[in-house]
Amino acid sequence: METADVAVIGAGIAGLSAAAELARSVSVIVVETEATPAHHATGRSAALYIPTYGPPTVRRLTAASAPFFRSANDGRSPTPLVSPRTVMYVADEAHHDHLLAFAAGHGEAGGSLELIDGPASRARCPALRADWVAAAGVDHDALDIDVAATVATFRAGLVERGGLLRTNHRVTALDRGRNGWTLATTGGPISAGTIVNASGAWVDVVAAMAGLAPLGFEPKRRTLAVGPIAAGADPGDHFVAHAAMRFYFGAEHGDLLFSPADETLSEPTDARPEEIDVAIAIDRINEATTLGLRSVRQAWAGLRTFSADGDLVLGPDPADPAFVWCGGQGGYGIHTSAAAAMATASLALGEALPAALVDVGLRASDLVPDRLLAGHDDSTG
Ligand SMILES: Cc1cc2nc3c(=O)[nH]c(=O)nc-3n(C[C@H](O)[C@H](O)[C@H](O)COP(=O)(O)OP(=O)(O)OC[C@H]3O[C@@H](n4cnc5c(N)ncnc54)[C@H](O)[C@@H]3O)c2cc1C
Repeated sequence: METADVAVIGAGIAGLSAAAELARSVSVIVVETEATPAHHATGRSAALYIPTYGPPTVRRLTAASAPFFRSANDGRSPTPLVSPRTVMYVADEAHHDHLLAFAAGHGEAGGSLELIDGPASRARCPALRADWVAAAGVDHDALDIDVAATVATFRAGLVERGGLLRTNHRVTALDRGRNGWTLATTGGPISAGTIVNASGAWVDVVAAMAGLAPLGFEPKRRTLAVGPIAAGADPGDHFVAHAAMRFYFGAEHGDLLFSPADETLSEPTDARPEEIDVAIAIDRINEATTLGLRSVRQAWAGLRTFSADGDLVLGPDPADPAFVWCGGQGGYGIHTSAAAAMATASLALGEALPAALVDVGLRASDLVPDRLLAGHDDSTG
């Protein structure tokens, strides 16, 4: 039977990044259901880094992840992990108030949105209809993330440090012994002192296998599609999002990547796009633009899995410290990945959070699952 100090369940970005961090000091095996890593949410994202997105703890994790994304650009990865991408939030007259409220929230989150009028927004995205767009807010601080290169960087870090990745190994049962866990998997049994549960939409399912209380995570389906645009239509080079999140789109290799920004509650599953969601996106985008979307070349969906308070849940379960949560990555699991991995590893090993995380204001009490458990007294901070 293969044995390691830590078994990480799930080879999405959360599991691979946490495993790469842990492998600096302990032996690690990552076990993954699918034949390849990043098959689920990680391989299906919009791949944006938005510093102001999400609740405060998420934003701190995003800020603390920036050095990783940028330093990999200095030669640690053969290709840059991030590149600048302006995001423009657009509103028609009916949603002008949403834009102003969104801009205020953006400011409170430490960002600044350049507010512009309809004609100025059409200079940036010529396909916006003059009789639709009333105003826009431009975010100059966002980045495009190369998710495949980011995942490859974490995976390389894991392997360099002697960590193992076992694909086609779905965990089917967890047995707690005196010194740790035996994982029954479809690829054979594995034993480990500690489990890190980085199973994305399945985090509560895996906790139940361990006999632990679920934390009430909610997987929500989001649809993305790529389709051709009308001849001569010009989407510009910004990522364009509706101020009230009714759609978003961006040019991609001559086509358009687009989404209705749906958030449909789902079971943990291999999410598939619903035709109605693609049709809704096409309708909304055609109403706002002259892009003339009619068909799709490809559509897919993924699950964004949220905790009850919207923040990530990282750290040992209070009922069993040898079971470590790494869940609730929601819509920000890519841009929080580097810092979330550092936090998960230090909390799993019973260490203090690294200075790089403390310096951005992160506290272990904001991350650990205790805050979500019934009867928890949060007056202790
Ligand atoms: C449409 C869409 C757009 C998004 N856009 C962005 C964005 O712009 N920026 C951003 O930062 N984030 C974005 N996200 C969110 C981001 O993709 C997720 O937060 C992140 O990928 C979650 O990573 P994960 O590793 O937790 O989950 P996953 O990638 O789903 O990985 C979990 C893994 O666990 C495995 N697993 C589950 N159960 C078991 C088991 N029993 N045994 C073994 N393995 C198991 C699964 O097979 C899976 O591979 C988006 C998501 C979607 C769907």
